[in-house]
Amino acid sequence: MSPAIQQRCWNHADREASCRCPRCGRSFCRECVTEHEWLLLCAACLRTAAGDGAPRGGVFRRLLPAAMALAGLLLAWLVFYGVSQAFLESATRQEGRVSRRGSGGEARAGAGRVFGAAPAPDRRRPA
Ligand SMILES: [Zn+2]
Ligand SMILES: [Zn+2]
Repeated sequence: MSPAIQQRCWNHADREASCRCPRCGRSFCRECVTEHEWLLLCAACLRTAAGDGAPRGGVFRRLLPAAMALAGLLLAWLVFYGVSQAFLESATRQEGRVSRRGSGGEARAGAGRVFGAAPAPDRRRPA
């Protein structure tokens, strides 16, 4: 039982394989392989080899938009983070002012003192 006799073409089950594709390792008849850069490649591997280069390049090209989108998202997040930080800082400052004005008894007391110190009562007495 020698493997040479058992080898059949991947595309033609009735034909005996004469060579093997070094890329995918499948056996093909001489008709199904094409010489590409000193290698006999099958039709599928020839397509990937003659297409956009190596499969790794294809994967990289597929991942590149995702990486770019991720980088853009990161940049947007950084910008948003910076803006939100600045906004939060100003908001907390405003909140501090508002809370001092609204619920702060000291501010009201201070205002009352100012009113009390104002010459309004003095004006009422003579009037
Ligand atoms: Zn192949
Ligand atoms: Zn064949």
